[in-house]
Amino acid sequence: MNKLLTLSSEPFLLFEREGVSYYRAPNLLVPHGFSTRLGGISAKQYLKSLNLAYGRGDDASVVEENQRRFFHAVFDCDDLSCAARREQIHSADIEYVSRGGIYPPGDGFYTDTPGVILTVKIADCVPILLFDPKKKLIAALHAGWRGTVSGIARKGVEALCAMGADPADIQVAVGTSIRPCCYEVREDFYTAVKDSCGETFAARFVTLRDKEANTFSADVVGMNLAILKEAGVKKENISVSPLCTACHGDLFFSHRASGGQRGTMMAAIMLN
Ligand SMILES: [Zn+2]
Repeated sequence: MNKLLTLSSEPFLLFEREGVSYYRAPNLLVPHGFSTRLGGISAKQYLKSLNLAYGRGDDASVVEENQRRFFHAVFDCDDLSCAARREQIHSADIEYVSRGGIYPPGDGFYTDTPGVILTVKIADCVPILLFDPKKKLIAALHAGWRGTVSGIARKGVEALCAMGADPADIQVAVGTSIRPCCYEVREDFYTAVKDSCGETFAARFVTLRDKEANTFSADVVGMNLAILKEAGVKKENISVSPLCTACHGDLFFSHRASGGQRGTMMAAIMLN
């Protein structure tokens, strides 16, 4: 049985199985997990130890053993072919899948098929998992700021609604990502958000940090919460990890905090 560790991440809970530590959200009553950097076999210091992505400096065999360990801990599954995986490209492209495998690049999956593990990879970007307990539908989304302002969260909700979901029934978990404390951006970021989502939206979520340096703090989680609510998801059906990837280098990989030399984490969900 997976055992519960004590670390303040309310409302998310940290679990550990055979060395693999991962978070669960309290409102997703299907198997799911948000990985940490703990429990894998990556040996390079900056990849230690649960790097779940190709192309970061690990041999493919190491990445696949790490993925196997993560899926084993969360889903009791040792077969990588059950997992839908793809490279993330900061788009709002999501795809329906009915089986595992490596898919062309994009930023999300959704399904009504039990036994298919949906995955997205992150290292500061916002992982979002959706579950409709009435219609038995799930989605996994990777919301970088570009995908966020392109509306990937809304698209995820709409995709489930096109399969019969009512947005008021959809449960959502927003995993650990970089938060405004560490997400310092410049005016071009503010302008890009304004151009996509309007002045009010930009002013709400990209706030002045240092007047002299003309820097801003970006709240990408806040953007996604607003977009989810706008799409009809109820506030009480959304759980959010309070942690920041860049603040907790011992637990998470952070692209920004590491200057880009880092491993990659995964969020994953499956209908049983
Ligand atoms: Zn931080």
